[in-house]
Amino acid sequence: MSIDVHHVTKRFGDFVALDDVTVSLPTGQLTALLGPSGGGKSTLLRIIAGLDTADSGTISIEGTDATRLPAQKRNVGFVFQHYAVFKHMTVAKNVAFGLEIRRRPKAEVVARVDELLKLVHLSQFAHRLPSQLSGGQRQRMALARALAVEPSVLLLDEPFGALDAKVRKELREWLRRLHDEVNVTTVFVTHDQEEALEVADEIVVINEGRVEQVGTPDQLYDEPANDFVMSFLGDVTSLGGSSLRPHDIEISTSPVLAGGVEGEVSRLLRIGFEVRANVLTIDGEEVTVVLTRAHARAIGVEEGSTVWLTPAVGAAVVPRMKAVV
Ligand code: ATP
Repeated sequence: MSIDVHHVTKRFGDFVALDDVTVSLPTGQLTALLGPSGGGKSTLLRIIAGLDTADSGTISIEGTDATRLPAQKRNVGFVFQHYAVFKHMTVAKNVAFGLEIRRRPKAEVVARVDELLKLVHLSQFAHRLPSQLSGGQRQRMALARALAVEPSVLLLDEPFGALDAKVRKELREWLRRLHDEVNVTTVFVTHDQEEALEVADEIVVINEGRVEQVGTPDQLYDEPANDFVMSFLGDVTSLGGSSLRPHDIEISTSPVLAGGVEGEVSRLLRIGFEVRANVLTIDGEEVTVVLTRAHARAIGVEEGSTVWLTPAVGAAVVPRMKAVV
């Protein structure tokens, strides 16, 4: 079972926001929709939620065709970056809201709210107003509220986007743990590579309305489908017309490596335990190589050294083609 997006296209006037997107988001997993701003991530999330409709294509949620179902019938919970909380209601009341409008018995509501507030570590703040919480606490309250009605799918649009880096990091670790506890199928939008790599089971890379690649964080990092995915998920340089990671280049101060490209170190930067060498090759290519400080010392590389470069064994290498095609 999964969320199946099948040939979905969405236009805003002449602009194609989603271009024939087909993707399957597995049940019980934490999936990140990752990509640059304007790529179509939120549009896809809103279409899955039923807050927007596709021009063509279908959405099925857990085996049910949801394409024409209104949002409230899709059994999904949402959290957005600027979540509309009820400012005049306490934290407990905010969390209870969805259950109360569904007229669940009072005792059940009290028990469920209690359980959820424990889960999001807000029990001691049950009687505060949202304005008396920190940003991170408010987002946790929003998650508890979305989970209250036991959705089969939880959709989060940049849920931690407005928070500072430290709180974001805490919340993302917390979201991972929460997901492992409640196991609800969760899809979250982010433009932050580190957030996706750290938290998600599966990542869908979306750019210019198209899916560039779907895979686990390791697959995307180690076997990027193309230049775009490679550069979006980490540092990238080029050698011999191909893209690869700067730490995936072997550097030698003697021409021992067969097929090595000769060049001269134009700049050597020491950053913590790393050394970053800029090499200008005899082909006129500027290559960045990252090596450890100990390795740089061992081979005696300096500014002005003549060096030979080769891709490391097992390095991910993709043709540099995106811009040319
Ligand atoms: P971000 O990370 O910046 O939120 P995103 O990948 O989520 O970006 P979307 O919000 O899905 O991108 O938007 C995709 C494209 O569709 C953007 O170029 C946006 O300007 C456009 N778009 C979105 N909603 C509308 C709308 N209601 N009317 C017109 N254009 C829209």
